[in-house]
Amino acid sequence: MSRIVMKFGGTSVADLDRIRAVAARVKRERDAGHEVAVVVSAMSGTTNQLVAWCQALSPLHDAREYDAVVATGEQVTTGLLAIALQEIGVEARSWQGWQIPIRTDNAHGKARIAAIEGAELIRRMQAGQVAVVSGFQGISPTGRITTLGRGGSDTSAVALAAALKADRCDIYTDVDGVYTTDPRIVPKARKLAKISYEEMLELASVGAKVLQTRSVELAMNEHVRVQVLSSFADLPGTLVVDEDEIVEKETVSGIAYSRDEAKITLRRVPDRPGVAAGVFGPLAQQAVNVDMIVQNIAADGTTDLTFTVGKADLPRALAALEALRPQIGFAEVQTDTDVAKISVVGVGMRSHAGVAATMFRALADKAINIEVISTSEIKVSVLVASEYTELAVRALHTAYGLDAA
Ligand code: ASP
Ligand code: MG
Repeated sequence: MSRIVMKFGGTSVADLDRIRAVAARVKRERDAGHEVAVVVSAMSGTTNQLVAWCQALSPLHDAREYDAVVATGEQVTTGLLAIALQEIGVEARSWQGWQIPIRTDNAHGKARIAAIEGAELIRRMQAGQVAVVSGFQGISPTGRITTLGRGGSDTSAVALAAALKADRCDIYTDVDGVYTTDPRIVPKARKLAKISYEEMLELASVGAKVLQTRSVELAMNEHVRVQVLSSFADLPGTLVVDEDEIVEKETVSGIAYSRDEAKITLRRVPDRPGVAAGVFGPLAQQAVNVDMIVQNIAADGTTDLTFTVGKADLPRALAALEALRPQIGFAEVQTDTDVAKISVVGVGMRSHAGVAATMFRALADKAINIEVISTSEIKVSVLVASEYTELAVRALHTAYGLDAA
């Protein structure tokens, strides 16, 4: 007998039939003798609608009231699932974030979980009651309802699993696991049986949208065993686990792409101490997240500085840079939004040479120009023109031997 947290995303609870199917799955686990807590998202489309209503009334709405509105989607699903469970003879009750409570900070719209009081839930689960918990929401230190940011119910589920000391956190979604790359681009992509937290974190943050990045971070820090699996098929999913649990370490486990970044080049930046600090300090103050950075060698006392920022941050970044121009004295700002970042990720890179060389060769063979490069211990990323995204991902998938037989 074990204690498990099951999380169902919006498409898995999209209508009453699907909610009945979820109830049947939960019943199966409970009948197998497990203690079960379920975390649910809002029915698909609901949160988008709620967000749109807030924006329609006021583009600069009060973030506390936004949270009061958007948190309601999950409340509906918890009640409906509890009813569906009771209907098939499973004792269940709904829990909102404030009732447990799930305590967060007061960063409305993107709150972080601070603590979860799990004792009462555990007592009831031990007595056979299924806890149906609203994902995405919590309560602030001043007693207001908070939400965790879009996709946040993954994080709720992992945090609850940690608080309940659950043996497993099963994330049911509309894909049946984590693939070597996006199967819509590469039909030969393979489902991974296991992936390490670190690899998942890199893949999640570079565009593989299976799990909210924050949830993977939390799982890694709290050692929560996460499984990603489909709520529409009875197939084993992908286990996200400690690196030590993976015996056969692939050099490259996955390839991700993202079209969410924009490239900025500052032309003819004076080459003197303090210039980089002078550029990136103010960007950080404007909460602009800078990702890849390259600086060329100086020729005539000036140099070009190229970096990438999230597309959504581009207007703020450009405004900040224009304000800096008199002080720093660069000649020109160039931007390019038709770019894609392609990343290869694998813990095996730590002990294998030549991973980057393989990447550059594969791209060169397809005549794809590399604009910016960045690396970490387990990742190599390149920026290319966005029209080459699919071609690049396919070529790399083959080059690293990831294609399914
Ligand atoms: N319902 C919220 C959203 O759509 C949270 C989630 O689905 O994880 O972002
Ligand atoms: Mg989601």
